[in-house]
Amino acid sequence: MSNDNEMKASTVHENEAGPSHEMAHSDLVQQKYIGCLLGGAVGDALGAPVEFMSAASIRHRFGPTGIQEFVPAFGKLGAITDDTQMTLFTAEGLLGGRFSKQKPTLPELRVYIAKAYQRWMHTQGYKHELQIGICNGWLMDQEELFSGRAPGNTCLSGLQGMRAASDIARNNSKGCGGVMRVAPIGMYFSSLNRHYESQHSQFLHDAFELGCQAAAVTHGHPTGQLSSGFFSAIIMELLSGKGLSEAVNWVLPLLRVRVSCEETLKAVETACRLATNRPNDPAALHLLGEGWVAEEALAIAVYCALSAKDFRSGVELSVNHSGDSDSTGSMTGQLLGAIFGQEAIPATWLEHLELATVISSIADDLTLNDWTTAEISASAIGLQPQGLTTLTETAALRAYAVTFRHWGPFRH
Ligand SMILES: [Mg+2]
Repeated sequence: MSNDNEMKASTVHENEAGPSHEMAHSDLVQQKYIGCLLGGAVGDALGAPVEFMSAASIRHRFGPTGIQEFVPAFGKLGAITDDTQMTLFTAEGLLGGRFSKQKPTLPELRVYIAKAYQRWMHTQGYKHELQIGICNGWLMDQEELFSGRAPGNTCLSGLQGMRAASDIARNNSKGCGGVMRVAPIGMYFSSLNRHYESQHSQFLHDAFELGCQAAAVTHGHPTGQLSSGFFSAIIMELLSGKGLSEAVNWVLPLLRVRVSCEETLKAVETACRLATNRPNDPAALHLLGEGWVAEEALAIAVYCALSAKDFRSGVELSVNHSGDSDSTGSMTGQLLGAIFGQEAIPATWLEHLELATVISSIADDLTLNDWTTAEISASAIGLQPQGLTTLTETAALRAYAVTFRHWGPFRH
């Protein structure tokens, strides 16, 4: 363990040094995108076996330092839960929307995401008339996703109660099932921001607003939605190059002007204050709640990520508490992965992570690095596989593959 930690410290040091040597800017961006989703997934998998255990029970079973390596959950080592599953479907909905329509509006993107959540519910074994004709595509071809991973009741009942894909939830839930799945929204708008930098404030607003709307598909309480908007927006800012404190400060003004922002605002401000005065302290973490509701999960993730000296210690802190360890692990891992990048994730966690290749691919696609080429190739070849014969450049072939994976008129 100590060797691993020493290795980690040097990795983190290199990452903090920035993109100076060898690594090109686009590679660094890709590292952070993949780090964000893989980081979330390893946090999810580390926390899954201890989700319903108290801090004392965790210490009793795993020793004073708590759980530090994967142990089996759902019958396998490295199993992800509904948090990562739904995150993948958020990404799939966004990419399907963007690759099907030149400039989808926020309400249109919410509908693409809502349909993607119906596909997720199908993988959990629940049928709905809105699933007819849309349960196909690249992500649905991943058989490992067809596995129940303690799906949240509010997510299931919200999706079961939908009468149209444009519906929003009619419950009063602020469970963390909304905020745990919206990181891809921040990734998506960070990508658009890289392509069109002059529109930063609009994209930040959009990341916040769509984060709220994506949560509203299943969660009706404003705190459940605003926490999600806040999380999406700070993910966007981290991937756009800001530090976490700076990102929080950029996003707080967007939160402060929203109706019913008080609970979310108080949770974030308390997390920031504790991270300054009592960093890396399980007793301080306990003051933020247990993470079952959205603003607590957000506060725990922000506190752990602000406190963390490296990826491993921050994620370990976030799962070794009495509460929703897989969700807080997932969100903390997403923040720290977006900060430190893929290479900061411990190899022993990545080695056994379920669906790691799928998660990396989706994260890479969300960079939209091949975006311009993808749009050109999509229109030029009419998305027919035989069109490949006319494409000789690697970039165009890659763009074709990304486009084909996410182009979705056949199911939207
Ligand atoms: Mg879960």
